Amino acid sequence: MIKEENIRRVEPYVPGEQPNGMDIIKLNTNESPFMPSDMVAIALASMTPDQMRKYPDPEASMLVETIAEYYGVDEDQVFVGVGSDDVLGMAFLTFFNSGKPILFPDVTYSFYDVWANLYKIPFKTIPLDNNFRIKVDDYNQENGGIVIANPNAPTGIELPLDAIEIIIKNNPDSLVIVDEAYIDFGRQTALGLINKYDNLLVVRTLSKSRALAGMRVGYAFGNKELIKAMKDIKYSYNSYTLSAAAIRAGVAAIRDDDYFKQLVKEIVDTREEAKVTLKKMGFDMTNSSTNFLFVTHESMSAKEIFEKLRERDIYVRYFNKPRIDNYLRITIGTKQQMRELYEALEEILAAK
Ligand code: PMP
Repeated sequence: MIKEENIRRVEPYVPGEQPNGMDIIKLNTNESPFMPSDMVAIALASMTPDQMRKYPDPEASMLVETIAEYYGVDEDQVFVGVGSDDVLGMAFLTFFNSGKPILFPDVTYSFYDVWANLYKIPFKTIPLDNNFRIKVDDYNQENGGIVIANPNAPTGIELPLDAIEIIIKNNPDSLVIVDEAYIDFGRQTALGLINKYDNLLVVRTLSKSRALAGMRVGYAFGNKELIKAMKDIKYSYNSYTLSAAAIRAGVAAIRDDDYFKQLVKEIVDTREEAKVTLKKMGFDMTNSSTNFLFVTHESMSAKEIFEKLRERDIYVRYFNKPRIDNYLRITIGTKQQMRELYEALEEILAAK
C-alpha cells in the first residue's frame, strides 16, 4: 500500500442524482426540460467515421469562431472547455496563484470550494445578507481573486450589472470570475465589460439555456492576455478537451438562435407562473432570474418535501448545508411536469 503522503485527497463535489426511468420528473440538476435544436442531431448524425478516427481540432476553431461571431467579440477573447466546470477549474488553476485567499459567497455554487481545495488555493467565504443577497462592499479586502455566480446559485438572485462592475473596479489586481451559467434567463451580462477591464473573466455554458448538458460545452470571455494564459494551462494538461462531437453540437446549438430564444421564453414564462402557484401553496422564495426556484415552505420542512416528492419519482435538489437546509432548489420543467409537481405538492401538504 502506498503511503498516504503520496495521495492528493479532496472532498469531491457531489452532483445531483441522474436517475433513469421513463416516468421520472427530473427537476434536480437545472438541465433544460426541452430537447436541443434539431440542428444538433443533424450535425451529429452527419459526423463521418473519419472524424471519429482522427483527433479533434485542439483549438476547437469552428466553435470558437461561432461563439466569437455570435457574441461580437474577437476569437482570441474566447476560451472553450468541457462544460463550464472545466472552464472554471482551468481558470482557478491559471489565475489563483498569489497565495492570498480568494473570495466567494458562503452560499453559492458548491464546486468553488472543491476546486480551491483541489488546487490548494486558500479561500474565504463572504456571507450573503439575510435575504441571500451579495454585499458588494464585503469584496473590498485583500484577496487573490473573486468568484461570483451571477445570477447566483442556488439562490437564483441576480446582482445588477453596476454592482458587478463595482466589484471588478475595486479589485484591479486580481481576477474576477463572473460565472454566468444562468444569465440567459436573467437580465444583464457582464460580457460588455471585458474590453473595459482586464481582470474580468465571464464564464458561460450551453448546458442550461441551450439544452446541451450531455455534450459538455462551456466557454469564457476575457481580454486576450487572460485567454492566452488559460490556453497555455490547457495545452499543458490535455490538448484535446472537447470531442469532435461536442464541437459540432456546440456550433449547431449556437447557430439556431430562434430556437434558443423560444426555449428561454418558455422557461421564463413557466418560472413566473411557478412563482405565483407555489406562493399560493405556502412557499416563500427568492426572486429567481434563472431556470430554477429556491423555495422554503411555511409549515413543512424542505427535507420532508424532498423525500415525499422522491417517493413519487419527482426529483428536486435538497442541500444539507448551513443556512439553506430548509430550502429546495426546483428546476423549471415543462408546463406538464410543473402541473404534476403542483399536484404532488398539494397532496403532500394536505396529508400533513
Ligand atoms: N456554474 C454554475 C453556477 C452551475 O450551477 C453549473 C451547473 N452545475 C455550472 C457552472 C456547470 O455547468 P456545466 O459544467 O454543465 O457547464
